[in-house]
Amino acid sequence: MKIVKKLKLGDFELLFLRDGEFWLDGGGYFGIVPKVIWSNLVTPDELNRVKLNSNPLLVKTDEHNVLIDPGLGNKYSEKQKKIFKISYEPSIEQCLNEIGMTADDIDIVVATHLHFDHVGSCTKIENENIVPTYKNAIHYFQKNEWEDAIHPDERTKGTYFLENYVPLMDAGLVKLVEGNVDIVPGISVEITGGHTKHHQIVFARSKGKIASYWGGILSAVTHIKIPYTMGFDLYPVEIMQKRKELYKRAIEENWLVCLEHEPVNPFGFIRLTEDGKNYYFERKM
Ligand SMILES: [Zn+2]
Repeated sequence: MKIVKKLKLGDFELLFLRDGEFWLDGGGYFGIVPKVIWSNLVTPDELNRVKLNSNPLLVKTDEHNVLIDPGLGNKYSEKQKKIFKISYEPSIEQCLNEIGMTADDIDIVVATHLHFDHVGSCTKIENENIVPTYKNAIHYFQKNEWEDAIHPDERTKGTYFLENYVPLMDAGLVKLVEGNVDIVPGISVEITGGHTKHHQIVFARSKGKIASYWGGILSAVTHIKIPYTMGFDLYPVEIMQKRKELYKRAIEENWLVCLEHEPVNPFGFIRLTEDGKNYYFERKM
């Protein structure tokens, strides 16, 4: 069975890849929402963890192969694998192979933020060294996110792992950007904050069609309600404000929404019920 799902977006092609899966503590994932409520949406395992995918998005534009949030990667210790019940199946290599590509074909990488589950696959172990996976790609990171990620504090050190991005800088493969900018024609980033202070979302635009990749601002369908944010979010109130603004724009402009950790089909549209009271996610396919 095919792993990679494909969609056209104007002149662009969107390819929905996978890079393994992991399980996060349900309390951490649902923040202030009590288990008696969230356990109606998803069934936790025996250790109270909920399953999440890692869903990188590849956008083929006229000139570039743009990989957004490359995913978990495979550099975890036995202890980390146990804590997060990490399974590296299917991997991004398998997905690229399925569509006749390799990591060397990627020329642009963009990250919403630098947490391990989003940029883990940017480096890999080769002959006991940690080396860039996408060695022909320029990696576009937000400058202030970079500063936070190379100086993790007591709270963030469990999510920022330097081995995922410092080797890229050493290899001259990083370009730091500041604020809302165009990366290449049709691909842009917009700062949201919230999940991390300088988190950004990524847009692909072609022929009037818009796809949006939300990173930690909305990571799965179970979080569609405005106050359903993660315990790991650094600024949850900012996320709620940002979601209200982004949901409105997403509905008005009919954005295709791509969800990094959604374990079912990770793309669709945000809709509002007829009475205007509740948001829901209309899956595409
Ligand atoms: Zn994150």
